[in-house]
Amino acid sequence: MNVIITGPPGSGKGTQGKLIAEKYHIPQISTGDILREAVRNGAALGLEAKAYMGRGGLVPDELVIRIIEDRLIQRDCGRGFLLDGFPRTVAQANALERMLKKKGLVIDHVINIEIEMEELIRRLRGRRTCSRCGAMYHLFFNPPKKEGICDICGGSLYQRDDDKEETIRSRLEVYSHQTGPVIQYYASRRLVRSISGVGNIDDIFHRILGAIDDRETYAKRGGNPS
Ligand code: ADP
Ligand code: ADP
Ligand code: ZN
Repeated sequence: MNVIITGPPGSGKGTQGKLIAEKYHIPQISTGDILREAVRNGAALGLEAKAYMGRGGLVPDELVIRIIEDRLIQRDCGRGFLLDGFPRTVAQANALERMLKKKGLVIDHVINIEIEMEELIRRLRGRRTCSRCGAMYHLFFNPPKKEGICDICGGSLYQRDDDKEETIRSRLEVYSHQTGPVIQYYASRRLVRSISGVGNIDDIFHRILGAIDDRETYAKRGGNPS
């Protein structure tokens, strides 16, 4: 099963993406995580991407398209994949379509998480990430048992550079201008299911599973639910 999870920064793509990937035994491929890792390592890719990310803008299409091309040929993608944070522009969506076509693959589901601006800002301001295992926390909504320490691995938690106030606003703006059209792109292919991102993590996950199940059932009958 090939799934895209999309939604504005802070909508819960990473949190829900992880649950979906575990449930369906497919890898979660997050371009944001791959880019941050490259920045940390000092890899050439990271050096190139860093300035764009720091400003809250998008990294050039060629770079992220190459990342995805390299990633999708890896063996763990044999049963499918979950893309988190890609595609973010129509050019990326077109490139993805070309890549998949060559392999005889298609996107099965696009899950679009919808949530209002004020809540996004609250979530991004309080987001904390484990520097060792990447687990996600929130200062108020999902705090670790011990302040600053990951429950899972004991690693220390950090705040992403781009989760500071000024950058948050520009990321939300970039999202509506550049990524909004991507949702239209997939909506016109009847692939999108929009889900409310409000509520607790488990409830949202069940909404997503319901949407995937619905679409799978219709697909088996040869119809189209959306
Ligand atoms: P969030 O999920 O909070 O929006 P991500 O981790 O997905 O953040 O992305 C962080 C940053 O990495 C983005 O602001 C952007 O600079 C860069 N980035 C991630 N994915 C892409 C992409 N598909 N295209 C261009 N830039 C990207
Ligand atoms: P994205 O990948 O879309 O940027 P994340 O999954 O990183 O979003 O979530 C952003 C922040 O909001 C994180 O701190 C996360 O712990 C928190 N969060 C995720 N889902 C919920 C939820 N349903 N309710 C409250 N906080 C949430
Ligand atoms: Zn950890």
